[in-house]
Amino acid sequence: MTSNRRTFAIISHPDAGKTTLTEKLLLQGGAIHLAGEVKARGAARRARSDWMKIEQQRGISVTSSVMTFERDGVTFNLLDTPGHEDFSEDTYRTLTAVDSAIMVIDAAKGIEPQTRKLFEVCRLRSVPIITFVNKVDREGKPVFDLLDEVADTLALDVSPQSWPIGMGGVFEGVLDFGTDTISRPEGPSKEFLGKREADVELAGPMAEEVELARHGYPEFDIEAYRHGDLTPVYFGSALKNFGVTELIDAIARFAPPPRPQPSEAGPIEPTRDEVTGFVFKVQANMDPQHRDRIAFMRMVSGTFKRGMKLIPSGLGKPIAVHSPILFFAQDRELADTAEAGDIIGIPNHGTLRVGDTLSEKNQVRFTGLPNFAPEILRRVQLKDPTKTKQLRKALDDLSEEGVIQVFYPEFGGQWIVGVVGQLQLDVLISRLSAEYKVEASLEASPFATARWLKGSPEAIKGFEEFNRANLARDRDGDPVFMAKSAWDVGYQQEKNPDITFGATKER
Ligand code: GDP
Repeated sequence: MTSNRRTFAIISHPDAGKTTLTEKLLLQGGAIHLAGEVKARGAARRARSDWMKIEQQRGISVTSSVMTFERDGVTFNLLDTPGHEDFSEDTYRTLTAVDSAIMVIDAAKGIEPQTRKLFEVCRLRSVPIITFVNKVDREGKPVFDLLDEVADTLALDVSPQSWPIGMGGVFEGVLDFGTDTISRPEGPSKEFLGKREADVELAGPMAEEVELARHGYPEFDIEAYRHGDLTPVYFGSALKNFGVTELIDAIARFAPPPRPQPSEAGPIEPTRDEVTGFVFKVQANMDPQHRDRIAFMRMVSGTFKRGMKLIPSGLGKPIAVHSPILFFAQDRELADTAEAGDIIGIPNHGTLRVGDTLSEKNQVRFTGLPNFAPEILRRVQLKDPTKTKQLRKALDDLSEEGVIQVFYPEFGGQWIVGVVGQLQLDVLISRLSAEYKVEASLEASPFATARWLKGSPEAIKGFEEFNRANLARDRDGDPVFMAKSAWDVGYQQEKNPDITFGATKER
């Protein structure tokens, strides 16, 4: 049996139209069914009250993190990636939980830096991409130039599946190559309201352009697409509804169902009976009164049922998942089950961490989730020295959530935080203040990067004796070498061949 799940994300540069497109996808994909709006009925009523309780009492807003909708028997799980200019680990990790992505490009701007960065992450994992060139209702770059830009900057074959008939002031609709129909703008707002014309004879330069477009590019090839070598390109306007249905159809028809996920013992197939999954995101409570958090688990295999016991790899003993947040689609009778490709939100008090595997038998360890070597290291300076305890708690919590990484040096009292992007530091300072009432600032640290030490206890002990000034412990008490430069890492590695200096921490 092939799965009817399509789990995907939208990648784009800020302002390209991700939010607008998301809304339109949800609207056109039938009812918008965010978790809080599920109709109360039987088992679903319980689910709803669980949800409402969590949302109201704890003020957690998770609705926008996972959006589920159904259309023609296909269930779509759209995972939101935070839309900041500065990337964060959160965004990257969310991309490990999807099977495909839509890349939204502004027709006037082409490939922008953030699009490119996110694309590279997708490519690392061969995540297939469908391209949506947005805002064709406005003046944009020439269409052939846009396609060349995608192909050249991303080293990707492009296969246009539709074509804008003019842009901006001369925009007359979008020609769909599949059905040979043109969606036409209507009314004063020039929106697409459902008017499609077949057998339109194009004339003059437009006819030539379309002729070239149809024959000048590779044919769509589903294998090449699923491999990440080719992207089908759709043109449209999220704001004016052009191209949105075509996009949903493309995901339904071409985007891959749940893929096998890499684990220590080889790929885990979605058809495996056992429930397995991994935590790709942990979201804290927005309400400072509570320290609860929601772990988002991507289901890799099996059928999850409410109340099931699962073993988190980081804990080793089972936890009962009584109040999971399931992201329902419309009209699903059995709203309290989830299967491969789905996302479950699991409320917990810090037991679950990003990167954890959850499973029934505790035999699987997923490996796909990247940890990132911190590239920016800063000392945390407390404004009020009596708040040390609160600061420690906050840093531990936030590192568990994956907001920052924390290092406690063996010598000296000042704690160090490590991040991949500047944005994480801003988030740290504002959350310290808002949630923990700790005012702190960040200062330069003498360190350039950090390396997790692995080796025999004797080897580690020997190393520690000589390098105390450059040693720290992470949140779990594991030893970390704080390096002043990349050269420093290479030098120590050469001197200590029995020790591995890991750029990331494998849990
Ligand atoms: P995001 O930052 O990628 O989420 O972008 P938004 O969806 O917030 O859109 C950014 C701006 O572009 C908003 O003012 C939208 O109204 C506008 N916008 C989005 N899609 C279109 C479109 O298809 N055509 C036009 N003309 N404007 C659009």
